[in-house]
Amino acid sequence: SAPRRVAVLGATGSIGGSTLDVIARHPARFRASVLVAHRNVEALAALCAAHRPELAVIADPALEGELARRLAAAGVRCEVAAGMEAIAAAAAGPLCDTVVAAIVGAAGLDSTLAAARAGKRLLLANKESIVMAGPLLLQALREGGGELIPVDSEHNAIFQCLPGGRPALAEAGVRRLILTASGGPFRGRTRAELATVGPDEACRHPKWSMGRKISVDSATLMNKGLEVIEAHHLFGAPPARIEVLVHPQSLVHSLVEYADGSVLAQLGNPDMRTALAHALAWPERVEAGVAPLDLAAGPPLAFERPDLDTFRCLALAFQALHAGGDAPAILNAANEVAVEAFLAGAIPFLAIADVVESVLAELPAQAVVDVQTLVARDRAARAAARRVLHGAC
Ligand code: NDP
Ligand code: MG
Repeated sequence: SAPRRVAVLGATGSIGGSTLDVIARHPARFRASVLVAHRNVEALAALCAAHRPELAVIADPALEGELARRLAAAGVRCEVAAGMEAIAAAAAGPLCDTVVAAIVGAAGLDSTLAAARAGKRLLLANKESIVMAGPLLLQALREGGGELIPVDSEHNAIFQCLPGGRPALAEAGVRRLILTASGGPFRGRTRAELATVGPDEACRHPKWSMGRKISVDSATLMNKGLEVIEAHHLFGAPPARIEVLVHPQSLVHSLVEYADGSVLAQLGNPDMRTALAHALAWPERVEAGVAPLDLAAGPPLAFERPDLDTFRCLALAFQALHAGGDAPAILNAANEVAVEAFLAGAIPFLAIADVVESVLAELPAQAVVDVQTLVARDRAARAAARRVLHGAC
């Protein structure tokens, strides 16, 4: 049969690179037909030269001409488009049957929804979009008739441990979903020790190599908080049935506990190519280029409870999930603004949680009605976060 045609949104990022690595290993099965980036024209043009897609889209319209010039100079023949609408159109369009949603942040929402509505096979890495718009994304998937395969390693692990992927948990006899967290670079530190840590330290993750935004989220444990909300939507799990355990080796990617006491886990080396290969090939299995797991080589597997007093972002995410409505979207928007400020050296590490907490208090949860209202609330939360930042500086 013809290879699956894959649109890689966020092709120049960490997940994008791992996706293209897996695709290139299986030219008879997969073909990268659409590549998308934000501003990194040089890297996007190089990826087009290597993978020969049918379409390249750059989010920043000012860079369309430069992309076309670079492609022409390199002798690459492919269509070129620009702008956020063009990205959503490509995700829904005829050039792909599979969409890897790997844009970082709320910027990925429109294209993720567009792929879902169009009935594509949606490989979701962009957790911020499901955190923001969980019910709307699930509705779009139902209407489109496609399927969502989680790429986030924890959710991919849970998907693999559930019969048939995503059943009603009660019917499947599931008692709890247990999400593992590496604990990030600051595991075991006290608040006093975290007062002066900077962006480079926060981005030096002990186990995973990732983009800077998610690296900071891992350091604050907001990443795990976003993942709890993601798991709630993906698997229909009530908050009380989702637990987080810190597991520093990052070999057990998550677990499912059943009513009879059985606990199933998915293990593997910390390399996103495993989850991506699983999601691309599902229900089949393909080689991902990942070294075999050698359990005897490392220290024994360890698990501990997260320190919610030091890593307050995780507690705030649970708070937003309990508040319901659009509170998770407010949490996400405030966090994006705070993380950007931290990466720019404008606020200390511990202030990220303060900003998120203030914004959640300022904007009480409202019901999610449609995308337009949600985007307006996302903007209001960003404005509130900026006011908190200015007040604090
Ligand atoms: P990176 O920062 O490495 O890459 C982000 C990608 O998104 C780049 O290709 C960037 O393009 C593109 N991008 C950013 N803004 C826009 C925009 N407005 N329009 C179009 N494209 C845009 O991030 P990661 O790959 O680490 O993460 C991507 C997503 O996957 C995040 O949501 C993250 O939470 C999730 N994820 C990542 C994991 C990982 O291991 N890295 C694990 C699990 C989930 P450009 O290069 O031009 O700026
Ligand atoms: Mg994850």
